[in-house]
Amino acid sequence: MKRDNQIFELIEKEHQRQLKGIELIASENFVSDQVMEAMGSCQVVDEVEQLAIDRVCQLFGAEYANVQPHSGAQANAAVLLAVLQPGDTFMGLNLAHGGHLSHGSLVNTSGILYKPVGYNLSKGTGRVDYDEMETLAVKHQPKLIIGGGSAYSREWDYQRMRQIADEVGALLMIDMAHPAGLIAARLLDNPLKYAHIVTSTTHKTLRGPRGGIILMGKDFENPWGLTTAKGQVKMMSQVLNSAVFPGQQGGPLEHVIAAKAVAFGEALMPQFKTYQQQVQKNASVLAQALMDCGLYICSGGTDNHSMLVDLRPKYPNLTGKVAERALVAADITANKNMVPFDSRSAFQTSGIRLGTPAITTRGAKEDFMLEIAEMIVTVLNAPDDDAVIAKVRVHVNEKMKDYPMFAW
Ligand SMILES: *Cc1c(COP(=O)(O)O)cnc(C)c1O
Repeated sequence: MKRDNQIFELIEKEHQRQLKGIELIASENFVSDQVMEAMGSCQVVDEVEQLAIDRVCQLFGAEYANVQPHSGAQANAAVLLAVLQPGDTFMGLNLAHGGHLSHGSLVNTSGILYKPVGYNLSKGTGRVDYDEMETLAVKHQPKLIIGGGSAYSREWDYQRMRQIADEVGALLMIDMAHPAGLIAARLLDNPLKYAHIVTSTTHKTLRGPRGGIILMGKDFENPWGLTTAKGQVKMMSQVLNSAVFPGQQGGPLEHVIAAKAVAFGEALMPQFKTYQQQVQKNASVLAQALMDCGLYICSGGTDNHSMLVDLRPKYPNLTGKVAERALVAADITANKNMVPFDSRSAFQTSGIRLGTPAITTRGAKEDFMLEIAEMIVTVLNAPDDDAVIAKVRVHVNEKMKDYPMFAW
């Protein structure tokens, strides 16, 4: 058969782009050849799915897993479908404070079908305001409280959240999409100890193929009084499975599930812990180096793999949009992001979100983080100066020749 050159040329172009640049998008990563190979195959076997389930349960100490969700957003939508009725109230971290679209944004099914109440970060500390969360929970009596976010660099107090959920009779769901790899490596607290349900993506710090998972820990056997029309009590595992299929999706992507199984297998290896330790170390060194250059990092630092730079104190006139464009032009990829209490819109923003999972997969250590911080500041000091940006880009491309796509 004739090779589809159009597609493969585009894929090669993307490959070259990835090779040459510094990837700092906090949700991105590069996967091993094994994960790629598994995803390219089409094995339609139940054993593959069972293996994925067994491995992910071992990895997180879970008793139940559904590995079929096509994405993190699908996993979350399935949980909402399982535990809420249309119009029911639930709580999630405000999107503008680091939450995720699928936690109640008004343009997402979560905000269209249900009634979201957002909680916030405290202005003083830049950390989740659990006192406000409790007040809001008592006032609004949500059926579900969601923890986790996309641009939050601090550890969560899952125990406090469970207390608040118990106080108002709500279920607690933690979405660990971003820090899942660090949690698997036991570098951050494991939400399965506290939450009724845990969801995640598999492609961020966890370093697998694009996809989602739903997990449950020790509350697995608790039917939570869910009754069918015929008066039968249903187990939550059944309710969740039906919410994924047929509630939310059609057939599973078995090739992606095979790649998930491979990635969970890699995450169970000792090298994975070493990798995650380096991810965390690199993030903390990068955050400190940027602060030493006078940039403000929201909440004053990071506990995980990511950080949110508030540009306003050092560059009052620089938007996240312009900063992102300048960095991308220098082959340093990062996203613009709203900062808590942002005065600009979601299209402009006053922040940049950075993360170290992808660059650490390529073998970067602390010394390179210091250099990256310098390059970022050079670009942000002259976001409109093509000559400065071109000079940084040449340096980035030269440096990245020393870093293979997947090193561990
Ligand atoms: C990335 C992310 C998701 C969604 O993942 P997709 O696979 O892109 O749908 C869900 N929740 C959080 C907190 C995320 O960061």
